[in-house]
Amino acid sequence: MVSHEKTVMRRLSIGLRLTLWYLAFFALAQIAFGAGMWLILRHNLYDLVDDGLEEQVDDLKNFLQSQPKERSLAKVREEVNETYAIEHSGNYLEVYAENGELIYRSAFLQAHPAELVPPDQVTRPILRSRKIEGRHFRFIVQKLDVNGHVYTVEMGVPSEDAVETLHLFRSYLLMFAPLLLLAAAGGGYWLSRRALSPVDALVRTARVVSGTNLNSRLQKLETGDELQRLSDTLNEMLDRIEAAFLRITEFTADASHELRTPVALIRTEAELALRRSREEAEYKESLRHILTEAERTTVLIEQLLSLARTDSGREKLNLQPVDLRETLRKVVGGWQQVATIRDLQFSANLDVPDFFVMGDETLLRRLADILLDNAFKYTIAPGSVWLSLEAKGESVVITVKDSGVGIPEQEQSKVFERFYRVDKARSRAQGGAGLGLAIAQWIVRQHGGSIGVQSRSGDGSAFRVELPMIAVPAKNPQPA
Ligand code: ADP
Repeated sequence: MVSHEKTVMRRLSIGLRLTLWYLAFFALAQIAFGAGMWLILRHNLYDLVDDGLEEQVDDLKNFLQSQPKERSLAKVREEVNETYAIEHSGNYLEVYAENGELIYRSAFLQAHPAELVPPDQVTRPILRSRKIEGRHFRFIVQKLDVNGHVYTVEMGVPSEDAVETLHLFRSYLLMFAPLLLLAAAGGGYWLSRRALSPVDALVRTARVVSGTNLNSRLQKLETGDELQRLSDTLNEMLDRIEAAFLRITEFTADASHELRTPVALIRTEAELALRRSREEAEYKESLRHILTEAERTTVLIEQLLSLARTDSGREKLNLQPVDLRETLRKVVGGWQQVATIRDLQFSANLDVPDFFVMGDETLLRRLADILLDNAFKYTIAPGSVWLSLEAKGESVVITVKDSGVGIPEQEQSKVFERFYRVDKARSRAQGGAGLGLAIAQWIVRQHGGSIGVQSRSGDGSAFRVELPMIAVPAKNPQPA
């Protein structure tokens, strides 16, 4: 039952919920206020009536006091009856002597006898309300000590006016309270709608934002409150989503563009070869061109796949302690041969102690391959390429240096961007799509390191990778 109510509450709009809460509190406050006012009014009205009553009792006391002391009870009774039978204040009066003998009782009280409080219990004045024949009265019962005699007196006055005023007040309250409540509900609802109307505007704009109009933004609010913070935060989020979306569309466009070139080359080569019959040597030459382009395309597709995997977070690192010197030694072997073929000097300074890093060996080899591949690609014979490994504080530093074409200073920060090539024509001829350094940077960052370049146009380049070093892991004890 309770959970059902909760779901109903959740389904109501915030505006309606606020109004209902507001209404509940308002109704409670109204009830408390009404009841309080009614009680105060009642107290004051009865006070007035009681004051009048006490004055009449004082008059009676004065009258009794004016009787000579030696007067007999019978005589006093006669005097009281004579005076109070015609007095207005005698209409609702009863007087008893000390011994309980009745001295005076008005005709009205004879017809409607009171439940008398036993005289010995009347220690102080007792005030109470009575309803007789549909009329309201206030009665007082008290003892009067006059000239050595103690009388018990019960005296009443009609309290019709006070009761009527109270009734009237209550009817006004009951009449106006629902109207006030209704007005409060209307006002509350209007206020909450007004306060929440910017939310509706946000919802309307947010609904139309899609992949094709990611540049549209939510209405800018100047309310200086939580709603403005909400719209600002959502807009900042849209900025980030738009940037990511643009990166992906650019990546797709660049990738398609890069793939179109080798495929077009392969097609042209094949079409040309097939146009007429040729010598075997010519066919072989054509097939060699096709094979070279196909190999480049394979490399490109692998790079694209690798970047796509990193973007989607699916590329998982197999982290373990890696001996960087050993890893680089394995890489260097292959590049010595490339150096000989290309007539380049290649020296690797790996005469260092064991340097361990926490890393993925395959990825670290790939990182070294990318940097060495670039160094060899962008160095014209007879030039030199150097690889070195050294420690610097808590880090290990790998440096790949060449005496090649260099990178102009204004381009150095951009070479790590995807598809960025300094010299488009030359890079294309050498087969690069501008993805190698983007992958290298991703690998370095995944290892908690940093990569940078120092270069001057025409004066070689030095790529420097810094990786956090770990202590040399203890060798597994050999089984006895
Ligand atoms: P690519 O596959 O084209 O080599 P990279 O991302 O590896 O792509 O490099 C981006 C660009 O940076 C290259 O196109 C080249 O212009 C420049 N570059 C990279 N390494 C070197 C280097 N060692 N010497 C000169 N230029 C380089």
